[in-house]
Amino acid sequence: MRLTEQEIIDILDSKGLHCLNIAEYENMNTILSLECSNGHHIDASLKSVRNAHFKCPICEGKNSLSAEVSNLQVPEKSGKRIVAIDNATENVGVSVFDDKKLVFYHLFHFTGETLDRMCDNRKLLEETIIAA
Ligand SMILES: [Zn+2]
Repeated sequence: MRLTEQEIIDILDSKGLHCLNIAEYENMNTILSLECSNGHHIDASLKSVRNAHFKCPICEGKNSLSAEVSNLQVPEKSGKRIVAIDNATENVGVSVFDDKKLVFYHLFHFTGETLDRMCDNRKLLEETIIAA
């Protein structure tokens, strides 16, 4: 049964979240653009949000880990930053911790010829990870 817009809003409200693209909702797996009460931007599905353990990954750190959560912007550095990279040319996993708290994680996908993928990889590290 499809949820009504009000039911979706009520679920998000109960988690202290506001949806910025509710018109794009199709089903539980649709990635919604959400904002927590502290203004953090989170991309997550309603399926993830409904999980009892779901919390804003930036406010709550790794306790909020959920498979379909990603935050596409590396937040401004606060405290001692540790960046963990599972490096490859096609799929690159990146986790960023500030003061031992997970503030960002994402699996980046690169396509094209090896050299193109390596250049995109370098660009990611320089512009997204190092510059942040
Ligand atoms: Zn937050």
